[in-house]
Amino acid sequence: MRKIGVLTSGGDSPGMNAAVRAVVRKGIYHEMDVYGIYYGYQGLMEGNIEKMELGSVGDIIHRGGTVLYSSRSEEFKTDEGQNKAIEQMKKLGIEGLVVIGGDGSFRGAKKLTEKGFPCIGVPGTIDNDIPGTDFTIGFDTALNTIIQSVDKIRDTATSHERTYVIEVMGRDAGDLALWAGLSGGAESILIPEKKEDFDDIVDRIKRGHDRGKRHSIIIVAEGVATGSEVAQKIEEKSNLETRVTVLGHTQRGGSPTASDRVLASRLGAKAVDLLLEGTGGRMVGIQNNKLVDHDILEALEQKSEPEMSIYQLSQELSI
Ligand code: ADP
Repeated sequence: MRKIGVLTSGGDSPGMNAAVRAVVRKGIYHEMDVYGIYYGYQGLMEGNIEKMELGSVGDIIHRGGTVLYSSRSEEFKTDEGQNKAIEQMKKLGIEGLVVIGGDGSFRGAKKLTEKGFPCIGVPGTIDNDIPGTDFTIGFDTALNTIIQSVDKIRDTATSHERTYVIEVMGRDAGDLALWAGLSGGAESILIPEKKEDFDDIVDRIKRGHDRGKRHSIIIVAEGVATGSEVAQKIEEKSNLETRVTVLGHTQRGGSPTASDRVLASRLGAKAVDLLLEGTGGRMVGIQNNKLVDHDILEALEQKSEPEMSIYQLSQELSI
């Protein structure tokens, strides 16, 4: 392949820029023409495409968000939309596409691949919910953003002897809550993959309170319930003053951590290597610290499971 495209799609995540940079530079290194597609699949259908040069991706490795912008497109979910997208790429002679995004974006890439247009999926989402990779680009940054907030809330919680419920992102996936819970020293973690036990949550808070602990931190993934709902239940059952913080979209932004930049650079470059060999229909990932690639169709049939030993450990350490 001599001409490839790259786009970012769906929810943005810190490190997407580092991945775009890697795709563009690695492609040019191998004397390919690399086209940047703006606004994800929507821009692809509309032909919002520009040839990238080395300088097009200069000074972006440390920036959050995505310089190619992102979008959600209902039209692209239709057959007609997907054909339009392929036509736009054919017009420019583009032979392969790198899609940086989450599982929705991967489904789009899967559809194009099924129609005979080779795509490589690069997992970029703060949720860490893509099967076939241990980590997704943006997860580490989002986790660190959460932890900075948890540490600050802990200071004020201690001063006022309060229980704090912190709502973090994760509609279907509990990884952010899980890792934030362990690294933030939370008393309890509520994730979509595990049924919550409010009696246990309240018992833990009370036990801590009885031994003179001045604060309690409960982390809840948004997919379980809102922070307010959880706080209300805790207050009803424990009679302890409980406050809520919803971290919201702060978790999506910010300069990517070194770890996310390294991951993004490696995965972006690996995607180009695959297209260079003429291989399409794959997703790239990292497993046991080794770069891997899987059939994108098969990968999407698997379910990404959270590491429940982290849940167990967190429970044990917060007795
Ligand atoms: P994310 O990639 O972060 O999971 P979305 O789920 O919003 O974000 O998906 C991004 C875009 O990918 C959607 O707006 C749509 O254009 C495309 N997409 C999602 N699911 C499919 C699908 N089943 N078939 C084709 N395209 C899809």
